[in-house]
Amino acid sequence: MRIDIITLFPEMCEAVMSESIIGRARKSGAIEINCHQLRDFAFDKHRRVDDAPYGGGMGMLMMAEPIALCFENICRQTEKRPHFVYMSPQGQTLDQTKVRQLAEYDNICLLCGHYEGVDERLIEEFIDEEISIGDYVLTGGELPALVLADALARMAPGVLSDDECFELESHYNGLLEYPQYTRPSVWRGKEVPDVLLSGHHKNVEIFRREQSLLRTAKKRPDLIEKAELTEKELGFIKRELSEE
Ligand code: SAM
Repeated sequence: MRIDIITLFPEMCEAVMSESIIGRARKSGAIEINCHQLRDFAFDKHRRVDDAPYGGGMGMLMMAEPIALCFENICRQTEKRPHFVYMSPQGQTLDQTKVRQLAEYDNICLLCGHYEGVDERLIEEFIDEEISIGDYVLTGGELPALVLADALARMAPGVLSDDECFELESHYNGLLEYPQYTRPSVWRGKEVPDVLLSGHHKNVEIFRREQSLLRTAKKRPDLIEKAELTEKELGFIKRELSEE
């Protein structure tokens, strides 16, 4: 997977994408992430990429042409035209289903807006979809792009080790992950559930599935409504919750 990020702050993106699991995956070649300085595609000596909006109003808008030139430059470097995503509070809200869908693309390009956003004509002509990270407004698209890039990168083959496998984590199967514990087995008088110390793999598996169901029902009942559960599992949730 190759991810390109178009931004006014490539150093900020580069710094975040160079650490920990993603940084190691980039070094090993499991993923490629490139952060592009939009100002390199400005066409005046001040490297300006923004201007005042027609019709007046507050703030500045990012001009269409530098973004178009930057994206076309990226397209010349990739075999396929990247799927072009504009990080925007007006986009579809990101969730794990969307991440899985976007992770199918070999090439994806993320545009970080700034100021009041981007000239609408650029969005109409170039952008394949707009993605929001939530119903609130940030000063720029860098944090949203980094959130999406991180979520995508960890889905790429070879990025996570078997131990860190994403298939067991919250949201992958529509449920929240079960509770987890590490050493010591007794901490400030609180014990780890016996079954986890038993070495009985089948029972551990059953315990974790039940805990996953219960905590999803308690913390995110909206997810339980959408999850594909058996009659037995639904009965289990109902029984447990009624006993509390
Ligand atoms: N004027 C825009 C509007 O009302 O829709 C908001 C512009 S915002 C101040 C500047 C940039 O931050 C946007 O172009 C976008 O790239 C990014 N941004 C802000 N909030 C975001 C969110 N919740 N999700 C994704 N991107 C966001």
